[in-house]
Amino acid sequence: MDEVFLINLYFNMLVFMIGACIGSFLNVVIYRLPAGESVVSPRSHCKCGKPIAIYDNIPILSWFLLRGKCRHCGEYFSFRYPMVELGTALIFLGLWNVGTWQVALVWMVFAGMMIPAALIDLDTMEIPDRFSIGGFIIGMIFCMLVPAIHQIQPSEFLVLDGIKGVIAGLQGAFIGSGLILWVALVAEAILKKEAMGFGDVKLMGAIGAFCGWQGAVFAFFGGAVIGCILLVLCLPWMRKKESEEGFRIPFGPSLVLGSIVYLLFAKPYVSLYFTDIQKTLESF
Ligand SMILES: [Zn+2]
Repeated sequence: MDEVFLINLYFNMLVFMIGACIGSFLNVVIYRLPAGESVVSPRSHCKCGKPIAIYDNIPILSWFLLRGKCRHCGEYFSFRYPMVELGTALIFLGLWNVGTWQVALVWMVFAGMMIPAALIDLDTMEIPDRFSIGGFIIGMIFCMLVPAIHQIQPSEFLVLDGIKGVIAGLQGAFIGSGLILWVALVAEAILKKEAMGFGDVKLMGAIGAFCGWQGAVFAFFGGAVIGCILLVLCLPWMRKKESEEGFRIPFGPSLVLGSIVYLLFAKPYVSLYFTDIQKTLESF
């Protein structure tokens, strides 16, 4: 086997394992943040009070080795724990392979904020501001530092590149938030009730800052399509839940899913699509 292949393999495995460990931390964030608990201490523990030993806390693997149960009392741990870890690891692995390492790192930060935002929204119907507004602010900083996330080719004027990046990020945030705000206002006027929360508008600010306006538009429409498909697939399970606590579906998770699908798969196609629109517009 040649050397380049082995080095690539090594980095891919490393990124996967780092992703799994970060996913493990995101689990802690997802469960403790809405409860107002510290994400640093105490150590992870079971309901029976016993702390979870390091060897029982290996991301992805431990859940399967323990068959999803506490070693001491047999209490079941949610299947969502290993799924968040595996999901984060796979998303990190994918992002690592779609761009330069600088761009990949920025998008890993983005995913690291959006995954908990989506799952907390799913659990509580609320998106904490630290992910939406915080994501927008951190996104803007990265627009300035790594303008390549918005396809800005490096020139000899670093400051100018940074300014172009910031403009691209602001465009994304304003178009994304504006789009969802208008849709929410129109839907509210028709349905005569709140259709989308202001949390989604703020979340789109973060998505636009990191993904640009094309990414924000894709996250909205693509995310809605993916969300609908998932909803249909999950319907039998959701009916059971409906009887207990009413039927409300947060929009944040589909926005996040849309934005991550955009970064992983759709970006080249979407930009081609918009170039065609751009050319058609120019030809008139
Ligand atoms: Zn236990």
